[in-house]
Amino acid sequence: MEFFTAHPNQNWDHGPVVDWVEDKYLKLYAKKPRDTWRNIRKLHEEGFLIKVKKGIYRYDPDFVKQREIDDFTTEQKEEILKRDGYKCVVCGRGLENGVELHVDHIKPKYLGGKSTVENGQTLCAQHNFIKKTMKQTETGKKMFIRLYELAKSEGNEELKKFCEDILETYERHNINGHIEWKK
Ligand SMILES: [Zn+2]
Repeated sequence: MEFFTAHPNQNWDHGPVVDWVEDKYLKLYAKKPRDTWRNIRKLHEEGFLIKVKKGIYRYDPDFVKQREIDDFTTEQKEEILKRDGYKCVVCGRGLENGVELHVDHIKPKYLGGKSTVENGQTLCAQHNFIKKTMKQTETGKKMFIRLYELAKSEGNEELKKFCEDILETYERHNINGHIEWKK
């Protein structure tokens, strides 16, 4: 992506791009990367590059901006709501319970989730909020685990204790229990 953003609005054949990436990678990691071309194709699949024709890609900043704001169409939203019976798929509450319904991306957009009916689900405002919050706390827990491991290996007792206190708070509230912390 670094290569393409440095050369916007140009058509690139895979040869020079692969050479550039492999050269950079070799300098950084002292080995050749695997499947460079497949990863470039993946950037296209995720909507960051335009495929001009077979083997030729192009980065258009306006196109990516458009993609970022790209969301479900009104028709798609209607189809998803109808499919889910106008009820939150988590708690089953619907409009008759006075809750506000949202159409949510099951696989988030930032992970390459598409705005398709299959990738959509109905959530009430509360569960939509919880989903977003859980994602944030998940990121936080993973980072504190890493910081904890680092503090432990450096013998930094104060930092280790700080991380322990935070991670114990996660456990006490049973938040993100699927992420394992080995004390
Ligand atoms: Zn709900």
